[in-house]
Amino acid sequence: RWFQAPHLRRIFDLLNADGGEVRVVGGAIRNSLMGLPAGDVDLATTWRPEEVTERAGGAGIKAVPTGIDHGTVTLVIEGVPYEITTLRRDVATDGRRAEVAFGTDWKADAERRDFTINALYAGVDGEIIDHVGGLGDIETRTVRFIGSAAERVAEDYLRILRFFRFFAHYGSGRPDAEGLRACAQARAKLATLSAERVWTETKKLLSADDPGRALLWMRQAGVLSEILPETEKWGIDAIPALIAAEKSFSWRADPLLRLAAIVPPDAARLEAMTKRLRLSKAESAYLDRFAEAPEIAATLADAALERQLYRHGTEGIVVRLRLALASARRKAETDPAFLADSASFHRLLARAEKWQRPVFPLNGADVLKLGIPAGPKVGEVLAELEAFWVERNFSVERATLVARLESMVRSG
Ligand code: ATP
Ligand code: MG
Repeated sequence: RWFQAPHLRRIFDLLNADGGEVRVVGGAIRNSLMGLPAGDVDLATTWRPEEVTERAGGAGIKAVPTGIDHGTVTLVIEGVPYEITTLRRDVATDGRRAEVAFGTDWKADAERRDFTINALYAGVDGEIIDHVGGLGDIETRTVRFIGSAAERVAEDYLRILRFFRFFAHYGSGRPDAEGLRACAQARAKLATLSAERVWTETKKLLSADDPGRALLWMRQAGVLSEILPETEKWGIDAIPALIAAEKSFSWRADPLLRLAAIVPPDAARLEAMTKRLRLSKAESAYLDRFAEAPEIAATLADAALERQLYRHGTEGIVVRLRLALASARRKAETDPAFLADSASFHRLLARAEKWQRPVFPLNGADVLKLGIPAGPKVGEVLAELEAFWVERNFSVERATLVARLESMVRSG
């Protein structure tokens, strides 16, 4: 039972004393009730942040002020972080950030959370405390706003994306009708949110076991075109094929591969998207490599594949091949003509994944030795020889390349 974990025991001993109280809340409770692995453990307390810090100090527990404005102190026990947030109630909001006040009222704290399944608490004895009907919604796997959906959305428009994100991960059947309507109606307000918040939520949505259903509902509600207009002309229909291939081949669920599957592989448009959503450098580079990699035909010969891998790098081509394989497998379900394509993409992918980049056997020193002065000319000469070597499938020996270099130099 999660609540007997020794770390939590220490936190309960520390804060369930002298008239104060602490409870576990949010994702950890939701997931454990659904029989799913819990991520971070968040806790809520009646103690003020500075009191949490002081008590932790007295007990030799490290306390980090990770969100003092929001009332959050992170206790770190044997390297594991526990976010402890002082009970809050909403006082005002502009739809982007809520203004909150500290309090000691558990029900008010529950009511300012987004969904009923996220507002369950557990005390030291493991008893679940439900102020908002979350237990019933856990049972039916319903993502339901607490109170009026339209009002809750107007308080924080990020909740539109959270609605679909939690539906993608935990929902079953159709999304709650009132919530869906409220999200559809407020969709234009998504443009007022910061790019970072939008991308963080979108990435979590794309990380669900199967984000396909949620994406369809987002499209239907007009929400998808607000955050990913690129997908409108291209389409999210590639998702089911990709999810099926991920399962068959045990590919890690990768939100960026899923994003690559639903946006057009066009460098300029991808760049506009990565800028707009403020993707990290590594994330943008991944999509760039995908856009720059050539489309691979199922009939491509192995040697030609290896030349492409050398020129464009493995990563972008693996993305291309995974998407091509997923799509061919899907088509082969209804048209056996695609079975051959599917088999070839599978073979090409296996080759690409285990491919080792050969090392070009010449370098600048070989060129300088022949009396070419240091400068751009050296690089040009090397690039020409490298292209010759790649064209011949990396099989030209160093001695042959040196002889060729010498004759190039002689003929100027
Ligand atoms: P995860 O497993 O993704 O961490 P989580 O439920 O813990 O899921 P968080 O985003 O970490 O989600 O938020 C923790 C809790 O804080 C939520 O369960 C919810 O009760 C509350 N919460 C977070 N963001 C909002 C929001 N925008 N509006 C209202 N409540 C929120
Ligand atoms: Mg969490």
